[in-house]
Amino acid sequence: MVEVIESPNPPGDELGIKRFYVPGVVLRSKCPQCGMVDEKDLSDNYISYPQINEPTKVHFYCEHYADSQSEDEGCGHSWTEEVIVRIKIESCGGKDEEGGN
Ligand SMILES: [Zn+2]
Repeated sequence: MVEVIESPNPPGDELGIKRFYVPGVVLRSKCPQCGMVDEKDLSDNYISYPQINEPTKVHFYCEHYADSQSEDEGCGHSWTEEVIVRIKIESCGGKDEEGGN
């Protein structure tokens, strides 16, 4: 059994992860200029150098292709939102290591 001790006032700190992928999580934000929704699926998009318990910037881009006639086309605006990464560590059992006494 491992005891997990969490500080009541956790300091924000970098995880040291350049590309933080989170499969199963999608971030959605509306373009503040035209209202189109940009979606970031974190299974193939990543958050750069996230900090724990501190706001981390996420960049969004309103898709725009100069020669496209598509009605789904956005305005080319880019903006940032902030998210907070929180990590939960729980004890779930243990056993003796092989070769130990
Ligand atoms: Zn837009």
